[in-house]
Amino acid sequence: MAKKRVLITGGAGFLGSHLCDRFIKEGFHVIAMDNLITGNLENIEHLFKLKNFEFYHHDVSKFVHVPGKLDYILHFASPASPIDYLKIPIQTLKVGSLGTHNLLGLAKNKGARMLIASTSEVYGDPLVHPQNEDYWGNVNPVGPRGCYDEAKRFQEAMTMAYHMHHGLETRIVRIFNTYGPRMRLDDGRVLPAFLSQALRGEPLSIFGDGSQTRSFCYVDDLVEGIYRLLFSDYALPVNVGNPSEITIKEFAEEICKLTGVELKVEYQPLPKDDPQKRQPDITKAREILGWEPQVDRAEGLKRTLEYFKEKIQTPTETVEN
Ligand code: NAD
Repeated sequence: MAKKRVLITGGAGFLGSHLCDRFIKEGFHVIAMDNLITGNLENIEHLFKLKNFEFYHHDVSKFVHVPGKLDYILHFASPASPIDYLKIPIQTLKVGSLGTHNLLGLAKNKGARMLIASTSEVYGDPLVHPQNEDYWGNVNPVGPRGCYDEAKRFQEAMTMAYHMHHGLETRIVRIFNTYGPRMRLDDGRVLPAFLSQALRGEPLSIFGDGSQTRSFCYVDDLVEGIYRLLFSDYALPVNVGNPSEITIKEFAEEICKLTGVELKVEYQPLPKDDPQKRQPDITKAREILGWEPQVDRAEGLKRTLEYFKEKIQTPTETVEN
């Protein structure tokens, strides 16, 4: 029987590359598409020798053409960390809107099922805690993070419109902070920032007083949740994240203990519209997907640290175009 074919946009990025690995392992023919604006071919170079893997260097905000049949599309292309989307806000809005529209059109033409990577950022600076999928969010559309948050909200709305109006099979995953190997050391998010600062013996930068919270999900857990969601029959958004919440200050202490360095911190002003609290309510994922995280922070951080140690010894450059 012919292999099922899956298109993964953002396939050279952190999450996209792990998804490529998973679908290859499951016996799919994988087509990764990426313009490498924040991704890195190193993340998928081990797949290039495989017959059932293809890579297209392409910007999905432009017309997307893929020859042959497609069974599934996973749309993961988008800058994901504030440092990236603040630098390229228009591309960020375009990939969430035009890119999503192009891919929904492709899914419709091919009769493929499409899953989009949404985010906890659709909840903005949330007024309910923890956040469940029925909460509509508290987003500032004209603030600095608006380009990302609103692109993702539009992406969800466009996806639901294709689902309701054209009967397209769609899935929406709302991803909460995820970490693991292949994150960029310099992507500006707190976990890689703390780990690389600790490894370099620098003070850890805490924005604000460090009382804000985050919850971190290990990448293998996230990939499992996405895989289950894709093959479920549930079209409304589902949160996938790890509910174990920690303040940034406690997290700094945890990182120093893990890396065996003395805690030194440097306090900096809190960026505008930075969410104060982040914790997924994963009741739906538990009930519908039978999913919950398996890797706790101690184990996940240990695995990530190994990757970061290696990267700090042999740094690579990010391709920008
Ligand atoms: P990443 O930056 O590592 O990967 C994104 C990939 O998309 C990169 O390889 C980049 O080059 C590519 N890309 C960007 N614009 C493109 C375009 N116009 N055409 C083709 N390729 C393009 O980020 P990530 O952390 O892997 O995030 C992947 C997806 O998951 C994003 O959609 C992001 O919004 C979502 N997400 C991630 C997290 C997280 O914690 N990592 C949380 C919530 C949502």
